[in-house]
Amino acid sequence: MLVEHMTWEQYRDEVARRIIILPVGSLEQHGPHLPLSVDVVIPTSLAKMVCEELEAMVLPPIAYGYKAQGGGQLFPGTTSLDGTTLINLTLDILRETYRHGGRRFLVLNGHYENVAFVTEAVQLLLRDADGARVVILSWWDQVSDEMVDELFAEAGFPGWETEHAAVTETSLMQYFAPDLVREDRIIDDQSERMPKYSIFPPPDDIVPESGVLYKATYASREKGEKLAKHVVGAIVQMAREELGSGS
Ligand SMILES: [Zn+2]
Repeated sequence: MLVEHMTWEQYRDEVARRIIILPVGSLEQHGPHLPLSVDVVIPTSLAKMVCEELEAMVLPPIAYGYKAQGGGQLFPGTTSLDGTTLINLTLDILRETYRHGGRRFLVLNGHYENVAFVTEAVQLLLRDADGARVVILSWWDQVSDEMVDELFAEAGFPGWETEHAAVTETSLMQYFAPDLVREDRIIDDQSERMPKYSIFPPPDDIVPESGVLYKATYASREKGEKLAKHVVGAIVQMAREELGSGS
């Protein structure tokens, strides 16, 4: 149920009755072992799994995101949008889909810094989109405490801010897109310091040279599969409750 593969007639017949999922990610450094597209691949892959359990369809993802915080912008390849661009891009896509008859939307986020801007887009959409209902969620917020304990039993949980290019993202990529993971380049790393404030321009020592913020060597495909199924289960339950999918 990928919109980019549908004909216009299929789309016309499905758009009003399905939940419309819009994955939103980034083009951002994820260490020496993962591709720049991690934050797109993860929510898009989760969205495809959701479609196996719910009447839903997946829009082409927004493959760029808001500027990476904590030094991410220092890396070649991290290619980010201004906040107004992300707001307008998200709003245009939602508004057009609404115009075609879409009413129930799930914005599935894979990049932490996007949240405020996609929220603003939804707020602007709802000014004149009668009957629209939208859920915005980030996949890591759907992970239960019990699952965190299980996944981080050996490594210890550092908090989601530092779980970048580390246990969960590497595990999910090993499950969803193993060909894109450089297995021989997986490492553990961490920042020299993690200030509780933002510094502009960011100094070099708040992000390690590798771009990995925690212990990626504790990742595994098995953890990725377990985590993906767990998150999809939570999303499906949420969608049934909040977006009224009967199936
Ligand atoms: Zn990421």
